[in-house]
Amino acid sequence: MSQIHAIITRGPHKGKPLYPHKHQDDKYVASSSRYEEDYIRVDNLEELSVLVQAGCGARMSNRETGNAASYITNAKLRLEDNAPNTASVERLLDSITDETDLDRDSKGKSRKEQSLLRAYLLRGSNVGHCVICRHEFPFEMLVAAHLKKRSECTVVEKKDFKYVAALMCKTGCDDLYENGYISVDNGMVVKTDWKGCSHGAAIRGNLQCGRKRR
Ligand SMILES: [Zn+2]
Repeated sequence: MSQIHAIITRGPHKGKPLYPHKHQDDKYVASSSRYEEDYIRVDNLEELSVLVQAGCGARMSNRETGNAASYITNAKLRLEDNAPNTASVERLLDSITDETDLDRDSKGKSRKEQSLLRAYLLRGSNVGHCVICRHEFPFEMLVAAHLKKRSECTVVEKKDFKYVAALMCKTGCDDLYENGYISVDNGMVVKTDWKGCSHGAAIRGNLQCGRKRR
């Protein structure tokens, strides 16, 4: 587990450290934004550290300052050891996949699963390749897209993390795939159903078709 901290950069407490904030429900919070709808509540510092290594920011505080907890972006968080522990990611993914199924309404758990799956597929790197357009992107521009609809996967398929999902970019490939405009057949990107529409989607999809999936 990595120790997480940040340094206050302005105001009367400038230079003082911030630490992960334990909320009233005894949880720590990882997040991709300061908005509560993006909060991922976790039980312990190990889980928080895996999510921070996976690119999340965190809610941080320092009791001595008397200030309320605040959201600190991933770029401003400091970790003693930046290398994600793949075994921890896999173990957490395994348990969160069960929890997400038991608690279907939990958006927080789905976000946690998505963040962990992306971390798993990136294998500790901050950049990765989109399997559709094959361009390289920083991690925040990539999503772990389920190759088969998650709801249609068996438990065994859901836990086959290496094959259940692939990295796709947010510049269009994930949307084209999620909405069924393109598909992957025998390792090649193919057009699937353009629903008689959308000139833009057709042009964008055409660019990808015929490409070999990495
Ligand atoms: Zn792409």
